[in-house]
Amino acid sequence: MTRHAEIAGAGIAGLGLACQLAQAGWSVRVHERAWEVRESGAGIALGQNGVDAMRTIGAFEGAIEGGCRIRSWNIVDQWGRTLQEEYLSTELYSIPRSSLLRALHERAESLGVDVQVASRAVGARPGALVLDDGSQLPADLVVGADGVRSSVRASLQDYGLRVRRVDLRVAGLRARMPAVASDPTDGMREWLSGRRRVGLLPLDGRDVAIYMFCPPQDTQGRHVPLDVASWLRSYPHLQGVFERVPPDSSWGEVIETHCQHWSVGNVALIGDAAFSMAPNLGQGGCTALQAAITLTQSVADAADIPAALRAWEAKERPHVDYVQKWSGRYSRLCSKTPGPALRVRSMLFSAWGRSERLNDRFAGVEARLLQA
Ligand SMILES: Cc1cc2nc3c(=O)[nH]c(=O)nc-3n(C[C@H](O)[C@H](O)[C@H](O)COP(=O)(O)OP(=O)(O)OC[C@H]3O[C@@H](n4cnc5c(N)ncnc54)[C@H](O)[C@@H]3O)c2cc1C
Repeated sequence: MTRHAEIAGAGIAGLGLACQLAQAGWSVRVHERAWEVRESGAGIALGQNGVDAMRTIGAFEGAIEGGCRIRSWNIVDQWGRTLQEEYLSTELYSIPRSSLLRALHERAESLGVDVQVASRAVGARPGALVLDDGSQLPADLVVGADGVRSSVRASLQDYGLRVRRVDLRVAGLRARMPAVASDPTDGMREWLSGRRRVGLLPLDGRDVAIYMFCPPQDTQGRHVPLDVASWLRSYPHLQGVFERVPPDSSWGEVIETHCQHWSVGNVALIGDAAFSMAPNLGQGGCTALQAAITLTQSVADAADIPAALRAWEAKERPHVDYVQKWSGRYSRLCSKTPGPALRVRSMLFSAWGRSERLNDRFAGVEARLLQA
């Protein structure tokens, strides 16, 4: 008999999982609270694990539309010193979020997934997803892929799930803007200055993606529209970059989510709902896609879904915990280091850059290191 999944959230995690389950022969319905499935225009880095997952899902070619392959990356400090630099042997793509979401959505629909928009989940109980109109939708597998403020996760706390939410006390902005000749074309660039951080990701040559971080108490730093003069004091050479930041770009908080478990009975959490992390290693979306593949492998033919979900977590969690830990450390180093310790931070970043173990950060090698 065909098995059925109800998924809350049509983001990277929910749609990625929906595609995989549908490919495994499940019937799948996804509920998206918004009126349409869409992502803002900013960019996202897809490392090797994300690339592998998108190929498995069958949506890789569409996902990289409007993006480019990244061949190198470097990090430069406020004294102009290159702290880390690497020419990549593994695949890393910088792509528009909109392409990634569109490719997943189209693939899901082509596989027969029923994507319902304007459909809001308010929680779950073992065996069913609960919507805001009170309907309870029974399923063999119920999934909360409803992001960092997950309603499904909150409802599982009534069933004893313990959750720790850590506010990393950093504000982040991401945006897409027109490219100019001086922008990198196939390399990622990141600049550190005090507690502020800026990065550029090339896209298809016409556009470039920018990310910026500063502490939330840096009111000038996170002013909207961007206070160009204030940012120029930190980065005098980036005038042409700051002037292009769209005036309506907004700043968001960065939250780490630590769940005691990723499932309760046959209700699973995935993506930011289960393990949101600091975005520094470009792995939040990639780990969600990777987890969608392994979750499906675990439950696809399992007789006991709750046991299969526990086995999935046991397999997947060491990798996710590892990436989450290092992303958090990166974030703290960048946003909390006091002035007198900035030179020490630069030394630390240089040492980190030379570490083979940590340097291959985008490649998903952490998993292999853990297995070694
Ligand atoms: C500044 C920044 C840069 C980043 N850069 C990268 C990067 O380079 N590479 C990378 O891999 N990751 C990156 N990430 C992380 C990545 O964006 C997230 O990990 C990823 O988007 C999580 O996907 P998700 O599907 O779990 O959650 P979301 O993207 O939040 O999707 C959740 C979906 O659920 C819907 N929803 C919410 N509540 C409900 C409800 N109650 N009922 C129904 N639907 C609901 C939402 O509308 C949304 O569509 C970055 C994050 C930030 C903040």
